[in-house]
Parts: sequence; structure tokens; C-alpha cells
Amino acid sequence: MKILYKNCTLLNGTENMIPQENMSVMIEDDRIHSVFPDGASSEPFDEDIDLNGSFLLPGLINLHIHVPANGTPKKKEVDNSKKVRILTSTSLTKYIVKKMCETYMRTELMSGCTTVRAVGGVQDFDSRVRDEINNGETTGPRMLVANMAISVPGGHMAGSLAYEATSAEHARKLVDLIAKDGPDLIKLMVTGGVLDAKKVGEPGVLRMPPEYVKAACDEAHKLGYYVAAHVESPEGVRVALENGVDTIEHGAKPDEQIISLFKITGAKLITTLSPALPYALFDRSVSYCSETAQENGKIVFEGIIDCAKSALENGIPVGLGTDTGCPFITHYDMWRELHYFVKYCGVSPSFALYTATLGNARIVGIDNETGSIEAGKSADFIVCNSNPLNDFSALRNLDLVVFRGRAFPKPKIKKNLKVEKELDKWL
Ligand SMILES: [Zn+2]
Repeated sequence: MKILYKNCTLLNGTENMIPQENMSVMIEDDRIHSVFPDGASSEPFDEDIDLNGSFLLPGLINLHIHVPANGTPKKKEVDNSKKVRILTSTSLTKYIVKKMCETYMRTELMSGCTTVRAVGGVQDFDSRVRDEINNGETTGPRMLVANMAISVPGGHMAGSLAYEATSAEHARKLVDLIAKDGPDLIKLMVTGGVLDAKKVGEPGVLRMPPEYVKAACDEAHKLGYYVAAHVESPEGVRVALENGVDTIEHGAKPDEQIISLFKITGAKLITTLSPALPYALFDRSVSYCSETAQENGKIVFEGIIDCAKSALENGIPVGLGTDTGCPFITHYDMWRELHYFVKYCGVSPSFALYTATLGNARIVGIDNETGSIEAGKSADFIVCNSNPLNDFSALRNLDLVVFRGRAFPKPKIKKNLKVEKELDKWL
């Protein structure tokens, strides 16, 4: 079955993309068949769809999400490990959690993310939802999943989204355990986060001993997995890079040694501005965080920005993710991360869009499959009626999402209006 999407303004996802008017994209089943100026091909087709000059661009790729949470801010601090224990205590609660994960993944797709990377989930739910999507049993984006991460006792997300390693050997065995469910990568929690810090000035302290990091990375690499690590302090970045981590999630203010470690190891940086912004910039009556958390939030936010800027200046690949599941970070706001990338890191809008499409695809090695509008790739694209390079909020309401050739016209998403209102103050 060949479908011709004609009369579009194409943003093809490549690094120096400029809008190309009067273009046609022909798809055949789940692949892009050809891309050409309107009327330039006599290739027969079964159906044609006139996009009336609307913008057609690759589906977005969100490289950092947590599937089971939806970002609703909570007034009281939640005991995550207790919550997960309760939610996984019976087959009924497990069924409900999995259904919720499926709903959130549908939301990701309807918001224009045709690929997501899940870096810390509950049990093996992420890989199960991934497999159901791939088998056509449920609707959602392409998923790359880590399932549960590996932390240490008292470490980041320990006991909820992460196992607790008690020795280097145990960390290695946990990699083997996770590998049994067929993940796409391994995730480590090397440092604490904003909320784990006890003192002002010490967010993201190193929690995982270097020998645990090394043991987990060696085992993961042996089994053919790359390793992503949550890191929010300079010491953490150093330890992660010295011991085999492949992608640094979040980042921290880098020095010369860190930049040279990135270069030597070929590691990549995944920038996440969205989760740090509410802690750092919101009034505390809105973010519900302590003064300590706010001060540490500022350090983390600035560290993430500095790390991204230095990486870009030094030719180190930088990807983008939202850290969906953190307070105020929903399953439908990837466009805001692009907006922040321009606003706080000073990149051009087209570079931000490239980063969230082909750039992200390259970082995780799926650029032969998706990330740009090119013949032979998966038919993953979105359509909006104004130019997102002028204002990324054009991606807030899409006219069409196409994933693996299947079209979802006028996708509808239930949004959290309170979260929308607060976030919109920072546009
Ligand atoms: Zn995260």
C-alpha cells in the first residue's frame, strides 16, 4: 500500500535543515518510499493526502523518560519504594500499573514522540509494554528500555525504579538479572539527585563506588549492552566516564579533565533541562520543594546547562530527554525541552530539532531506522500547521502523527492544566 503525503513544507531532521516547500513524502506500508518535490515523480500510489503546506518533520525522540510516572507534582514527599512495593504486591495492582504504562506510552506517541528511551522503570513492565507495542497488541512509540536501574542502598531511586547493589560482584549479577528480560541498555544511578541531597551545595553526591560502576559496565558490555548513568555532580561524571559508562544522563559543571574523558571514551551526554527547571526557578509554593532542594536545584540546572554548552563547543554529541515522571514533567511535553535547549544553551532552533530527531537517533544507534525523513527509513513523522522553528509550541497540538506508517489524525491528549499554566510562564 503506497500513500502519498503531498504539498507539505518539509523539515527533514538533518543538522542544517531548512524548510523545503511543496514537497511530497511517499510511504509504502511502514517505510518511507521516496521524498521529492510535488509532481516530480510518476510513481503510482493508492491514496494521496494533501497537507496544504503544513510542516512535516520526523517524529521526536525522547531519550530520557520514566514510564510509570506522569509528572503530577505532589505536596508531600512520597516514599517511592513503599509506593512501588504496594503497587506490585498483587496481580490486580500489577495489572493496573501495566495498563497505566500502556496509557502513558500512547500519550507519548500522540504527542509526537515516535521513539522513547525508558531509563528506570518498575520491574520488567517497560520491556513488556515495548514488546506489546512491537507485536501490535497496544499503541505506543518505539521503546528502548533499561527496565529497572541499578543503584546502591540509600541511593537514587533505590528500591523503587532501581535495584540496590551491595558489592561490585552484586552489581555484575544484577546486570545479568536485568539482561534476562531483554532490555536495550543498562542504567546505573551513580550519584544522588536534587531531592536526595541533605546539604546545600551537595546535590548529586557520588553514591556508587567506582568498582561497582566498572563491574556493571564490564558485564553490560560483555553482554552487548551500552550503559547510561544518572550523574549530577562533577565527581560523578568523572567516576562514570573512567569506569565505562557510555551516556551521561543530566551532567554537571565540567572541567578540562571531564571534557577530555568524554573525548577519549567517546561517551555522549544526554541533556535534560526540563526536570531541573521547576526546582531551580519555580516559587517554592508551587514546586513544593524545600529551600535546600531549591538551592541544589539551581546548582544542578546550571551544571546541566554548562555541561551541554561545553560538550557542544568540544564536539561531544549531545542528546535530549525530558526525564518524564519528575514533578511537572509529563508524557506530552518534549517540545518544551527543545524550547529550553534554545533558550538556555543558545543553540539554533534547527539544531534543537535536529538534536531531538536525527541527533538523538545517532546517539542510540537507530539512525538507520528513524530520525529523519529519508527513503528507506521507518515512516515516523508528525505534521503541524505552523513552523516549529519559529516557535516550538507549534508542536503542542499536532495535526497528524504517523508511526511505522500508521496514521493518527488530530491526536488528542488529556493535559494537566495546572502543570500547563506553571510551565507556560517559562516560555
Ligand atoms: Zn531520570
